[in-house]
Amino acid sequence: MSGFDPIVSPTQKPAANLEPRFVHPDQERAAEARMSEYRSRHGRSPNILVVLMDDVGWGDFGCYGGGIAVGAPTPNIDKLARQGLLLTSCYSEPSCTPSRATLLTGRLPMRHGLQRPPMYGDPGGLEGELTLAELLSDAGYATQAVGKWHLGENEASQPQNVGFDDFYGFLSVSDMYTEWRDPYFFPEMVYSAARTDWVRNLPFNKCFVHATRGGALEEVEEVTIPVLSLLDAKWAEYSAGFIRRMAGEDRPWFLYHCTRGAHFDNYPHEDFLGSSPAKHPYKDTIVELDDIVGRLVAVLEETGQLEHTMVLVSSDNGPEMETWPDAAYTPFRCAKGSTWEGGVRVPAIFSWPGMIAPDRASDGLFAFSDILPTALAIAGASERLPSDRFIDGVDQTSMLLAPEGISNRKYHYYWLGQLFSALRVGEYKFMLASISDDDRDVAGGGGFTGVSNKYPYGRLYNLYLDPKETHSYLIRKLAYLEAFQSGARDHLLSFGQYPPKLVVGLNT
Ligand code: CA
Repeated sequence: MSGFDPIVSPTQKPAANLEPRFVHPDQERAAEARMSEYRSRHGRSPNILVVLMDDVGWGDFGCYGGGIAVGAPTPNIDKLARQGLLLTSCYSEPSCTPSRATLLTGRLPMRHGLQRPPMYGDPGGLEGELTLAELLSDAGYATQAVGKWHLGENEASQPQNVGFDDFYGFLSVSDMYTEWRDPYFFPEMVYSAARTDWVRNLPFNKCFVHATRGGALEEVEEVTIPVLSLLDAKWAEYSAGFIRRMAGEDRPWFLYHCTRGAHFDNYPHEDFLGSSPAKHPYKDTIVELDDIVGRLVAVLEETGQLEHTMVLVSSDNGPEMETWPDAAYTPFRCAKGSTWEGGVRVPAIFSWPGMIAPDRASDGLFAFSDILPTALAIAGASERLPSDRFIDGVDQTSMLLAPEGISNRKYHYYWLGQLFSALRVGEYKFMLASISDDDRDVAGGGGFTGVSNKYPYGRLYNLYLDPKETHSYLIRKLAYLEAFQSGARDHLLSFGQYPPKLVVGLNT
């Protein structure tokens, strides 16, 4: 890729409703050749497995420098990384729901409107959005969602009504099932019958559920704390059953497996209680999640589907530090809820033996919004990319499949609700606003606890020299200003033709 530079090289804008992208002709050709060879050899499109963990940090897995060093070995995930591509600059959104909606729609929270998680019956969800599941389903895929949903509890936003053939999981987030049941953390709730009744009557579903396309929810079991500790095991078994069943079918499939762990509060499965060297619930849960990745990959292997399945393992946001020590590890600044790197930089491992070269790592920019256009391209269904709405994701197929593929994304945009926070290009992060108390959050304070700050002149961090974002030195780097300002300006102008949407808002 001689002569290429992420800051100065030009991009192409494929259509008015699409994000500009780099076009690297050599790697595009290499990737296209691989895909057409795959299709002619196998006569069908590959399966896609997304394993999305909850609040797991960039640094938790061994392959990212965590693992045994932080008291929770992750041999299965580390092995998967060795067999594939490990991304060091994959970006989620600052919290669960915005990230998940971005993954499934290819759109930023300012477009899909889910800027924070809906809690305890808040109205609103994915309703009205076109999801990856729907698009893959139209392309002939079987679509299965398992585990955490948290994209709206209202009927029209439930998974079986936004493109999934089947759903087995819960509609919300782990803590909503437990934070009024555990007397250790919540005595004022548990020992008050009035408050317990009051929560019980809030309009959210207390069970984990099952549903099939277009059908009504059936409640499987109420999520008490003992039930909750078994959920990841039950969900893994359900996904394993799906993978086994699909081995006998001609159709390709998309499995969106979202774990309960390791969102606070963690109550490890008894088989994993105390199993980590750290002995803490969060760490035991990481050990279980790693084991689950191993179980799912083993089923792919046993059923002969490993080489026909692109696997992505990732997490939906950075550590939740307000619940420390029930919290992830990141080497970066601040935490979940913020647009500092600690809030939004997440682990991401792609594996597809025979198609994605092993032993690769890339620091190229990769955003959660890129998953939808990339998955559609892998499925041979790029023509289904919506044209009636803005799609923020870029197709990263060639980054994944070309032997030395580099990112096709020029800019990553960071948003805090409706506040445009920052833009990254190359190793530089140009920041106009953030959430922060003060520089103490360098040590990993709580991202939700901070106040929003605006920087009238902007701040500039070099993420290679200063991954903790402590030394703004814009004044020495003004030569780059046009690249930052034009990137931000073009992005903001896109909301003129494609107005933003607000479903669940954030007060910034
Ligand atoms: Ca989360």
